[in-house]
Amino acid sequence: MSLLHSVLENRKTAVILGHTNPDGDCVGSCLAVYNYLRDYFPQVDVTVYLERPAEKFRYLRGFDQICTEVPGQFQTDLCICLDSGDRERLGAFSGFLGAAGKVLCVDHHVTNTRYGDVNVVEPDASATCEVLFGLMDEEKISRETAECLYTGIVHDTGVFQYSNTSIRTMEIAGKLMAKGIDFSTIISESFYQKTYVQNQVLGRALLESILFCDGQCIFSVMRKKDMEFYGVTSKDMEGIVEQLRSTAGVECAIFLYEKEFQEFKVSMRSKKKVDVSRVAAYFGGGGHVRAAGCTMNGRIHDVINNLSEHIAKQLEE
Ligand code: AMP
Ligand code: MN
Ligand code: MN
Repeated sequence: MSLLHSVLENRKTAVILGHTNPDGDCVGSCLAVYNYLRDYFPQVDVTVYLERPAEKFRYLRGFDQICTEVPGQFQTDLCICLDSGDRERLGAFSGFLGAAGKVLCVDHHVTNTRYGDVNVVEPDASATCEVLFGLMDEEKISRETAECLYTGIVHDTGVFQYSNTSIRTMEIAGKLMAKGIDFSTIISESFYQKTYVQNQVLGRALLESILFCDGQCIFSVMRKKDMEFYGVTSKDMEGIVEQLRSTAGVECAIFLYEKEFQEFKVSMRSKKKVDVSRVAAYFGGGGHVRAAGCTMNGRIHDVINNLSEHIAKQLEE
């Protein structure tokens, strides 16, 4: 029996959790497991708890069933944590960890702290959705579950562009396509499509970006007051750091946005040399070698100075 099936045996209730500020891989993996359980384990009462995901993921089956409110009690037979490298990333739902009969953690972050009772962590996998494909019975994957898994892989690989894309990633993507999914629409509408105002803030972030370290690094920042002016939230910041990274000659891109006064969400991306997960982990965050993040406090100038010191050191190595 596969690990996913054995862990579900004799469970009456289960919850599925992802990380705060859920991205495509997070929403995709949570709803993939949700649909798989609904199809093949109808005896298990399963609920997905997540911060409200972006509306562009509404096409995924189960989107409307996602609970965004923190429950009054955290009792459950099984807690499945997806795409979350550590307890803190589960946000307000981390209370389930102490109360659950068993915790299963499925992830692909190198920085994963193995906080579950059972941990399936594959740092070489492009996405948590790729790890999940390996845990599911292929013939039991419905078209709807395939749409969720494909969405996660597309988002975490930047449409099969980033270096985390492997031969296995492409093989899995092919097998998911064979389930009859509308892959063109998934890619264009959940990945590339932007609202008018998202394009405006992207444009502004590019316009105000600054090159440093002899053009090897680039950074840009979005202040809270500017976010309020445009009426955008954290969800609208997706893709900006990738666009900065695509600048010719740049090895490492940093994008910050202000969550609260002098509290910044930091996103870092690199191309070939810099291990940004090491930099993020140093400042209390985590992620992958080429894509990582953390939260930092202080003045913008100091935040950038602190980050660039660590990045410059790696560029000299
Ligand atoms: P982001 O820049 O938010 O798109 O995140 C890039 C990668 O780093 C993702 O895989 C995240 O899961 C991870 N990451 C981002 N922020 C944090 C954080 N504060 N702690 C741990 N991992 C993070
Ligand atoms: Mn994620
Ligand atoms: Mn992921």
